[in-house]
Amino acid sequence: MKGEILVIGEHRDGIVDNITWELISKGRFLADQWGTHLAVLAVGSELDQLVDSLASSGVDLVLPVQHTLLEKYHAELYTTAIAQVCEQLDPGLVLMGYTYLGMEVGPALAVRLGGTMVSNCSELEAEGDHLVAVRSVFGGTLQIKVRLKGEQPHLLSIVKGVLPRDNVEGRIAAVKRPAVDLDQSSLRSRILDMLTIDTGGIDITKAKILVSAGRGIGGPDKIPMLRELADALGGELACSRPVADMGWLPVAHQVGISASTVTPCVYIACGISGASQHVTAMRDSGRIIAINKDPNAPIFRVAHYGIIGDVLEVVPALIEEAKG
Ligand code: FAD
Repeated sequence: MKGEILVIGEHRDGIVDNITWELISKGRFLADQWGTHLAVLAVGSELDQLVDSLASSGVDLVLPVQHTLLEKYHAELYTTAIAQVCEQLDPGLVLMGYTYLGMEVGPALAVRLGGTMVSNCSELEAEGDHLVAVRSVFGGTLQIKVRLKGEQPHLLSIVKGVLPRDNVEGRIAAVKRPAVDLDQSSLRSRILDMLTIDTGGIDITKAKILVSAGRGIGGPDKIPMLRELADALGGELACSRPVADMGWLPVAHQVGISASTVTPCVYIACGISGASQHVTAMRDSGRIIAINKDPNAPIFRVAHYGIIGDVLEVVPALIEEAKG
């Protein structure tokens, strides 16, 4: 690996997103191993508040990419701005989250820079001078190991919550404000509005017990049964993405990389297969109980207790037991 390591930072409402701290921890480790530097960039219009916290996070260099046109997220403008910074810095490795930004900007950035992109990674290790990443394929049913070779920069997007966030403070970084040249007239898309999702007061991230519905429950008419279990246990309802997509439950209940990360004391996964996009966001729960009729369902790999059976039989039995 030649060149510096660059982390693409993410933030919202003046707060650095957790994925950025996770990437910085890993980036610091790799930079020390390879004897190189670690930089982090943040894109926006008002970044002063962020610069201080990023400068004491263990990186060597902070790059606030500030421009009035970067006030709100816009994929084309963000890609252009980040590409211009990369052209100035010439990093060997660019780390970003497998977030909406990483999914949208990452591949476009790889094309602009002529680099190699590996997305949806869950592990990242140095093997000598090479980087080896583990990524999910086929909806999380298979994991493959990829060794990166060829044209640098190598760009990787990493799933939120899978990298440990070590405390790597203890050095104060230099701050360099790169100039970027942005032009609105060439844009092919325009942001009309930012819509905030109405959660109806539901915050599944605060629940101690979650009863979570997957596609395997069979239909929206089974939601009341799960609600009865959640109520009997003093918990809340959660769900996988298909359940929210199909409108069986509002999206405020969704667990996963596209929604909330949860760490309740107890997580009861009912008819959930265990795709990486779901598991990543609930694997740190205190106790995971999985109910699935397929003994090979990936959810059993993270479950502390597994019940191989039909949710329509197991859940009524649990309700009866819970109501005592
Ligand atoms: P399925 O994968 O269809 O699994 C249903 C399970 O139910 C199966 O294991 C089956 O054996 C079992 N089953 C069926 N009938 C019964 C029964 N009667 N009793 C017991 N078990 C039964 N997913 C998320 O959840 N959250 C996200 O945020 C998310 N974000 C994503 C982002 C991207 C970019 C992509 C590509 C995917 C994302 N996904 C997300 C989708 C994810 O890959 C899976 O498709 C999804 O998690 C599967 O949901 P599921 O487990 O409910 O359904």
